[in-house]
Amino acid sequence: MASEQHIPDRVATALRGLDGPVCAYVYDPGVLAARVAELRRALPGAAICYAVKANGHPAIVGAAAQACDGLEVASGGELALAEAAGARRIVFGGPAKTEAELAYAVRLGATVNVESTLELRRLSLAAERAGATVTITLRVNRADAGLPGTHAMTGTATPFGVDEAQLPEAVALARSLPGLDLAGWHLHAVSNNLDAAAHSAFLAEALRWSADTSRRLGVPLRTVNAGGGFGVDYAGDAVFALDELRARVPDGVELVVEPGRWLAADTGWYAAEVLDLKRTHGRWFAVLRGGTHHFRLPAAWGYDHPFTVLPVDRWDHPWPRPEVAGVAVDAVGELCTPRDVLCRGQRVDRLRVGDVLVFGRTGAYGWDISHHTFLRHPEPDFLVL
Ligand SMILES: *Cc1c(COP(=O)(O)O)cnc(C)c1O
Repeated sequence: MASEQHIPDRVATALRGLDGPVCAYVYDPGVLAARVAELRRALPGAAICYAVKANGHPAIVGAAAQACDGLEVASGGELALAEAAGARRIVFGGPAKTEAELAYAVRLGATVNVESTLELRRLSLAAERAGATVTITLRVNRADAGLPGTHAMTGTATPFGVDEAQLPEAVALARSLPGLDLAGWHLHAVSNNLDAAAHSAFLAEALRWSADTSRRLGVPLRTVNAGGGFGVDYAGDAVFALDELRARVPDGVELVVEPGRWLAADTGWYAAEVLDLKRTHGRWFAVLRGGTHHFRLPAAWGYDHPFTVLPVDRWDHPWPRPEVAGVAVDAVGELCTPRDVLCRGQRVDRLRVGDVLVFGRTGAYGWDISHHTFLRHPEPDFLVL
């Protein structure tokens, strides 16, 4: 069952400074920088490219551009964010790149993770037009590439990458086209894997497969991009054990990792004020100024995201303040749908209308994956610490 997490004082102070009804994301980009430092100790020598899609807020992207070796982007919009953030290196992936996006990536000197043979042709044309040579890795959908976690992207039918069986053909084409420099393979496999030992095994296997495949196809191997996928336990307290993560990378090869969730999750807190408390058919509901249109992850994944109560003592109304104590409540949003639920059945010691619920670990795949315009409520405030 969901349990309370500590709210850092700096977050509570920022929230207490807001006019009500409170509805805000609080971001602390310093958390991301600290995470990058931890990961560097675990994987010395690996290139760390933050996956911008986890959180594209300019303050987070800016911190990542500073702290990481580069940024991983998957659209023209994210290319623009990476350019604005002054990224030292850009890695551009995604299965549906347009000619305009490819031309933009070429202009920025990005490495492109190519996802199909048609994309090789489009990218070669963009490179030729710019008089440039583009470094590429081929994204491979491997025959089998098991890793625990959610959202498997390889070893199964998906729109991502080139099927391993078609790799010889794709390599031959990449070699024959002008403006392309094939550096290796892109093997992003999974999202939200919490088992660091399994991730180490995946990295070892990815490096072995890359060396074998490069030898077999005559591609001098320079880059193995193992993607992201380091996990975060939202509802419990399991951690991705960094001390179990390791990789032995051969000389002359660069290992690239592209974490999004693990770097960004703890940079964010989503806070929403309790507008009403009510009981229907035996359940207590805390109705929030906010909801899944700001933080869709628990609804999308079907879990209960724990919250912490930030007590607010001020109460300016002449009528009695609704309050519950020692009961389980469902934290629900302001949308007119029964699916607008952030957390079911979390026990509260005391909760009053006007208190604020704070949801930690909402810095990744929070605001960025949510359907902001549904019902046209105002957007949250965004506070950057
Ligand atoms: C989404 C994505 C990532 C980041 O995944 P996380 O699970 O957030 O670490 C990295 N690389 C690619 C290609 C992606 O699509």
